[in-house]
Amino acid sequence: MAAIAQARAWIAESSSIVGFTGAGISTESGIPDFRSPGGVWARNRIIEFDEFVRSREARIEAWRQRVEMWPAMRDAQANAGHHAFLELERQRKLAAMITQNIDELHQRAGQSPDLMIELHGTNMWAGCLECRRRIPMEDAIRRVQEGDLAPECAECGGPLKAATVSFGQAMPQRELARAAVAAQVCQVFLAVGSSLVVYPAAMFPAMAKQAGARLVIVNRTPTPLDEAADAVFRGEIGSVLPELVNQR
Ligand code: NAD
Repeated sequence: MAAIAQARAWIAESSSIVGFTGAGISTESGIPDFRSPGGVWARNRIIEFDEFVRSREARIEAWRQRVEMWPAMRDAQANAGHHAFLELERQRKLAAMITQNIDELHQRAGQSPDLMIELHGTNMWAGCLECRRRIPMEDAIRRVQEGDLAPECAECGGPLKAATVSFGQAMPQRELARAAVAAQVCQVFLAVGSSLVVYPAAMFPAMAKQAGARLVIVNRTPTPLDEAADAVFRGEIGSVLPELVNQR
């Protein structure tokens, strides 16, 4: 059987699928990924969490980068890839939707928030590092654009930071625990648009495979888990994924 027909059959026959997405699923919505040419890494320097906490200069640069990225994030629409995962939810097969993305495009597509496991937080909110109070990202961006270059919490004066997980910042424990359970009990683990090199997120596909799930990878470029996977598709997500979930 052709690889695509085989993977379609696994998905069609499964009652418990876990989706796992990286930045690649959102490139077709106009949000650049990290590692492709012209991606975020090529243009902006990474500011680690410690540096953000320690240095006002670093906070100013981090907020400058947020402002630069904001129009693309704010205006992005979910694409065929996000809608394919919605189709799996509609088919009552989707047990969890683990994402490394911070753009909330799965939710914008209509994915149920209860299914979402956001490993790296969200860019739609900013939070105070001291008192944890959150404000909409839109409000924080406006403050920066009005000249408050490293905005602080209106309640306690603590530094405001995007509610995303920076390099060097602790991962959300509840999300990690939920993702581990989901990976270990699913029948099919569908990893889409991720280079699978960012840890600990990338441990979940391996965990699922080890626990007996079929591992299916959709990614334009090779990943370290391709050899372990049951099926690998190197095409564009927007054309491969709808076909895999029997949407066309
Ligand atoms: P990554 O940039 O490391 O990998 C993305 C992968 O997707 C690449 O291997 C690329 O070849 C592939 N890809 C890109 N467009 C594709 C397409 N249309 N079809 C098929 N494959 C495509 O991303 P990652 O694995 O998610 O890790 C990077 C980190 O960056 C994550 O932690 C994430 O939090 C963060 N990030 C998020 C966003 C977002 O929220 N949209 C954007 C940039 C970075």
